[in-house]
Amino acid sequence: MTSQRTRERLIQRLREQGIRDERVLESIRNVPRHLFVDEALASRAYEDTALPIGHSQTISQPYIVALMTQTLLAEGRVKKVLEVGTGSGYQTAVLANLVDEIFSVERIEPLMKLSRRRLRELGFRNIQIKLSDGSWGWNEHAPYDAIIVTAAPAEVPAPLREQLALGGRLVIPVGSVTMQELLLVQHTDQGFVQERLELVNFVPLVKDSV
Ligand code: SAH
Repeated sequence: MTSQRTRERLIQRLREQGIRDERVLESIRNVPRHLFVDEALASRAYEDTALPIGHSQTISQPYIVALMTQTLLAEGRVKKVLEVGTGSGYQTAVLANLVDEIFSVERIEPLMKLSRRRLRELGFRNIQIKLSDGSWGWNEHAPYDAIIVTAAPAEVPAPLREQLALGGRLVIPVGSVTMQELLLVQHTDQGFVQERLELVNFVPLVKDSV
């Protein structure tokens, strides 16, 4: 069993790294990350590190999950969120505790099915997941107050900008396969304003051919 102490140590570490939003820390404290990885890795689930989830993909590092969530929630109330790259569903769960509804897109079917079942079993009822190429967003439910992308394209896909509500915030890693910058794109009255947050290392956003 994963002890409460290991979880508290993670929260302490996130604080030390500059995560200040108590809502985000509380959500991370409450989401059982060990249930989002293979049993063989469960003992490492509260380390601040990315871990493999199969299909050459990884569950994001808790610090990055916290930073992206904190950035998305920094201004105003966020009701509707689009997530690209469901993966294990861990980031989805951390966000789902703090917003009204999440529409999440994943392109690998077994990952999509597993995270859908897992999130349902954990009692989440405000998450919808579909199998598709998230570079196109999920137009049907647009516009979104916030968009989070957890796989890295070479540049921001145009449909994601288009599906961001006025006043909305998009957090996305952009760059090459080996290194990317985490960007915050805000949709303002004056257009799209872009800010660099920090260097990160995500798996690539894979574009499925049309
Ligand atoms: N936030 C997830 C991160 C998973 S890794 C977690 O913490 O578990 C990134 C995920 O993005 C992978 O599952 C990968 O399959 C998915 N992905 C990559 N390109 C995609 C695309 N074009 N559309 C949807 N999902 C994509």
